[in-house]
Amino acid sequence: MINVAILGSTGSIGTSTLDVISRQSDRFNAFALTANKNVERLYEQCLQFLPEIALMVDKVSAKELEQRLQSNPETQHINVFSGCQALDDVAAAEQVDYVMAAIVGAAGLSSSLAAARSGKRILLANKESLVMSGDLFMQAVKENGATLLPVDSEHNAIFQVMPDKLNNISVNVDSHINKIESPNLQDAGIGKILLTASGGPFLNKSLTELQDVTPDQACAHPTWEMGRKISVDSATMMNKGLEVIEASWLFNASADDIQVVIHPQSVIHSMVSYSDGSVLAQLGNPDMRTPIAHAMAWPERMTSGVEPLDIFKVAQLNFEQPDFERFVCLKLAYDALRAGGTAPAILNAANEIAVDAFLQEKITFTQIAEVVQRTIEQLETVPADSLDVILNADARARSVAASLCDEMI
Ligand code: NAD
Ligand code: MG
Repeated sequence: MINVAILGSTGSIGTSTLDVISRQSDRFNAFALTANKNVERLYEQCLQFLPEIALMVDKVSAKELEQRLQSNPETQHINVFSGCQALDDVAAAEQVDYVMAAIVGAAGLSSSLAAARSGKRILLANKESLVMSGDLFMQAVKENGATLLPVDSEHNAIFQVMPDKLNNISVNVDSHINKIESPNLQDAGIGKILLTASGGPFLNKSLTELQDVTPDQACAHPTWEMGRKISVDSATMMNKGLEVIEASWLFNASADDIQVVIHPQSVIHSMVSYSDGSVLAQLGNPDMRTPIAHAMAWPERMTSGVEPLDIFKVAQLNFEQPDFERFVCLKLAYDALRAGGTAPAILNAANEIAVDAFLQEKITFTQIAEVVQRTIEQLETVPADSLDVILNADARARSVAASLCDEMI
């Protein structure tokens, strides 16, 4: 039995992970479930999956959950914890084999790192941890013999179509080498990584039209059902920008190695273009249970509950270039990757504050990019050589971005 800790079990990725586990219950055990504040959903998940550990970061919520679990004989045995340190401890716990890192935002960094440092198989959905601290994170994976498997659908697709010798993001299996020692993409015969993007709900809106869109419109994604933060990121295309940075760390690629391709159907989840003219792609229905099941079963395969792709129903696949003028966030992310150091952490933190302000209707949709851009302009980028430096950049960026949002109200 493989014990899985699901960090962020009440979210969109967490729920899909539990759905996959429910279909594979002879192989996988939901050992620990964690959430921030959603007592109702975590309680329901505890009833269904009977984990050993349930954790709520928020202390008041944890107390309430504990009382509810205690009053039911079936769930009395579940140990309830709270707080951020306990979250890191769960990620590193000896009994845990796999860690699904599915917390949203910078809040997921510490526990993802804890999983890497304790040599776990990390199923990484929390792209923000790689964006903020890619170098440190990859080093922690390497030094502690962790296995890092991407759950983000595009990166999971790229992983699937990379040549074996370059499947460099897992270090526990003999045939797989670590990225830090791996050749660059060109030496391995790769021309470009083609990172696909749906373009989000506003693909064809003009800059003027974008000024008036509401949070609900931004969260109504045409092909994927996701949490609200990543849905807004998809609408601004910051999500794709964060993914460009994520791919650079996972696959040892430079900004010039990664081409974003708008593909509205979200059927091709990404491609790799080789020097001999071959382009390899991974296709499937837009359902996160596929990359989740892939990362859990790798190097084997297992069923995930996802319907087989009906290629005749899809019929048509379209591609277009991204428009950096309407989707400024994508350009800002490329710039941050090229700048290196703490620039991606500043970008990510400013974006989290701006998205939150937009969701609370304090700033407009187009002001998200403005807040991020102005925060980057105001802060100096320094080498990201320790976690302290990164967290400091994150905190300063949050404070600058929050002031900018206040000015805009
Ligand atoms: P979500 O908002 O649906 O869920 C977030 C989860 O994190 C919840 O369980 C919540 O309780 C927990 N959480 C929130 N704040 C926390 C905090 N401060 N401390 C501890 N836990 C906290 O988000 P999601 O859409 O499932 O996305 C999760 C991550 O996966 C994000 O990094 C996102 O970019 C990535 N991702 C999501 C999808 C998707 O389809 N949803 C696809 C690719 C990548
Ligand atoms: Mg993605």
